[in-house]
Formats: sequence, C-alpha cells, structure tokens
Amino acid sequence: MCYAKNMPDDGNYLQQKTAIFRFYGDLNKLLVPNRRGRESMLDFKGRQTVKHLIESLGVPHTEVGLILVDGQAVDFSLIPSQDERVAIFPHFERLTLSQLHQLRPSLDGQPRFALDGHLGRLAAFLRMLGFDALYFNHIDDSTLASLAIRDGRVLLTRDRGLLKRGTVVYGCCLLTLEPRLQLLQVVRRYHLTHYLKPFTRCMVCNGQLHEVRKADVLTQLEPKTRRYFDEFERCADCDKVYWAGSHHTRMLAVIEWLLQQVPPQAEMCTYARGNL
Ligand SMILES: [Zn+2]
Repeated sequence: MCYAKNMPDDGNYLQQKTAIFRFYGDLNKLLVPNRRGRESMLDFKGRQTVKHLIESLGVPHTEVGLILVDGQAVDFSLIPSQDERVAIFPHFERLTLSQLHQLRPSLDGQPRFALDGHLGRLAAFLRMLGFDALYFNHIDDSTLASLAIRDGRVLLTRDRGLLKRGTVVYGCCLLTLEPRLQLLQVVRRYHLTHYLKPFTRCMVCNGQLHEVRKADVLTQLEPKTRRYFDEFERCADCDKVYWAGSHHTRMLAVIEWLLQQVPPQAEMCTYARGNL
C-alpha cells in the first residue's frame, strides 16, 4: 500500500525548507561525492515533490525502487516537510515490494528494451541472450523515448537527462562504459536469467531466428563453413545466416561468465530499517 504523505498547503510557496536525504546502494554512484553514503541536508523552496528533489541531486526517477519518509513508503508526489528524513533505495534484486508501495506499474513478464545510440554492443549481447532489444545507431532522444513508452520497453542509457523525462516510466541508467558489465547490471536489475533463450534472435537486426536447411543457404556460406557445419538458422527479417562457429563459442563464454556472476539464489537485499 502506498502512503501518500502530502502535507496541507501552508500557503507560502516560497517558504525555505530543509529536508535530510540519504541514498542507498548504487544510487550513491549518481551523487556528487560529498553526498555519498551519508545523510545530507537539502535546502529547497516551496512545494517541490520528492521526485523533483531526488532528480535535482542527479538521480533519475527510473533508478528509484523505494522511498521512505520517516519510515513510511511514499510515492513520487510527496512534498517533504521541514526536517523530514527521506531515504531513497535502488531497485531490489530479490525483494517484492508490491505490498509496500508502487512507484510505477509493475513490469510484468519478460522485459523488452530500447537502447540509446551509444549502446550497440549491449544491444548485441541482449539479442544474443534472446531479448527483444530495439537499437538504432542514430536516433534522437524524443523518438527513442516515444518508442520505449509506446511499447512499454525499458529505456537503457547512460544519459540521465533522458531518464529524467517525466514520460519515461521504465529505465535503467547504466553505470559503466564496459558492455559486459552493462549487461550484468541489466540482467541483475530485471532478473533476466529467468528468461534466457540464447541464439534465438538476430544480433544485427533483432529479428527472430528460424532453423533452415543447409541446402537453402549454401550460396551464402564460405567454403570452410560449408565443409564443417551442417546446422543453420536464418533471421526472418534480414536473412543473415547463423551457425555454431567461433563467434558462437565466444558468446557461450559470455553466458557462462554471466551465470557465474548472477547465481540462481542471489542474496536478498537486506537494508534493515534500523539503518535508515
Ligand atoms: Zn536480422
């Protein structure tokens, strides 16, 4: 149950107030250093929502999994009062919060993604694992956000400004430039190990792969491939042909590494109330 804790209008829109903010987990990586891992004061004027104040400190609303004000779960529309303590948590890996609060509609089933233009390798990795990952080399922010919203896709980007758009519901701010670590962050956040279907989607265009007879693709194969391989799949959209060659072996190593990093029984997040 979400507890809307808005205070009655005090009649003074420019009243100076101070609230105490504390961010947890990876959210600290999005803060300036002197606000990380500790309570810090935030001065503001008038009736500003907790969502606006959190974003003013550098954390897009998409990254927030839970907000507690004086120990009560609240939604983004809360307007903090003087001296209130605001605790902001990231998405929990293993804790279901649906009974506690609802900052956004739950993302049911297998997530689909829309990726920013600088995330080509992450898009290829996600497709390799079988996920629907929309990606274009060159796409403007408005179009990308619209596509994500239209299809209920999770917007993946390193651009915090893009994630702060009010219309964006689901998003993930990638904390690293390294594609494999980006993949790990996304797999952990969205529990993707439950949905893995490796080598079922085209890494180039996101199309579905289908088995195809060798005789039907013979003209598309190099001589060595023709000699050593007999099983093939073809993209339904762009006709690219796939087989279990050296690229396949490298991708298997990525999957094995990923499963080592995300064990099936990951520890439940344990932010104790006493530490807030
Ligand atoms: Zn394709």
